[in-house]
Amino acid sequence: MRRRQLLKILAGGAALAITPSFLLRDRQQALAAKLALDSDDVYWLVSVPWIKMIAAAEGTAHLGKEAYQTAYRYRKFSGYADHPRIDIPIPGDPRNRTSDAAGPYQIISTTWDLTHSDYPDIWLKDEPSFSPANQDRCALAISDRTGGSAALLAGVKVLNGHLSVSYAAFQQAIYRDSSEWASLPGHDIGADSGQHTRQVWWLWSEFQWQLWGQCGYRRRIVAPLEAMTMTSPFGPRWGDLHGGIDFAAAVGTPVRSPENAKVIRVDRDDRAGLYVVLSPEGFPDLNLSFCHLSRTDMKEGDSLKAGETFALSGATGRITGPHLHIGAWIDGGIIDPGRYLKMAEWF
Ligand SMILES: [Zn+2]
Repeated sequence: MRRRQLLKILAGGAALAITPSFLLRDRQQALAAKLALDSDDVYWLVSVPWIKMIAAAEGTAHLGKEAYQTAYRYRKFSGYADHPRIDIPIPGDPRNRTSDAAGPYQIISTTWDLTHSDYPDIWLKDEPSFSPANQDRCALAISDRTGGSAALLAGVKVLNGHLSVSYAAFQQAIYRDSSEWASLPGHDIGADSGQHTRQVWWLWSEFQWQLWGQCGYRRRIVAPLEAMTMTSPFGPRWGDLHGGIDFAAAVGTPVRSPENAKVIRVDRDDRAGLYVVLSPEGFPDLNLSFCHLSRTDMKEGDSLKAGETFALSGATGRITGPHLHIGAWIDGGIIDPGRYLKMAEWF
């Protein structure tokens, strides 16, 4: 059974138990275990999004299958017989060094060789040495060696049948794997050659997107505004992080709850103006903020139905004109809310 089908079956059930097979005593328990995630399932559900995130961080994810034949600086190589070992100059490197990084994870040949001597038994022998599947295995083994994988798995939680990873564990895993991947912040191994690291919010957004896809989480999301016209995206702005997306909205435009949700905060400050924070029922570690509102009758603890109007947009707080600002956090770590809103397109 494909894992995402299995999860779909489980999505409506009670909290999932992760039951080791040696604890099974009778048939009923055996059935229960079939319907629970075991540690292998959890490993794949979390590790595949992790290596896809690394490919995205390394700048190769958009190349799809082609990425497996892409060497550093987007040079192509042919054949999977062995690591291509093509030396390509690192642009602007003061010491004129080269890199022979290759594949979606941009693995260099010394790491490739070291991983083979450390992990002799993990390779698919009936495929060429540097086949796509073997490159994936190498990425998983690297993350095993750094302790990144273990750190990530230690943070796995199941909330309302929804598999999730703690932000603290994610940050720890990023730090550990940054000793091997220049695109991850922490050890900054590429800094002396001018290679840049990704921001943690960028990685957390990408990881969530991949995790939702891998787990088959699909959500019906009502657009918070009848017309969603973006006026400012999430990301770096004016030397700071714009921690949400701005949408055009005249003062007094109804703002609707994207899902069945609880109101977890109603407050006001200089920057956000009057704001409301919601937590969708089926997504326990997600928080959504709606800022610069003109009015709300909500209070903490109120329940909302999907599509229910809970506020009117406005021009309060630090703004240049009326608009609605939407922010999103998962387990306290900020993400691009566009990723969440985009889930509506899966239907
Ligand atoms: Zn904004």
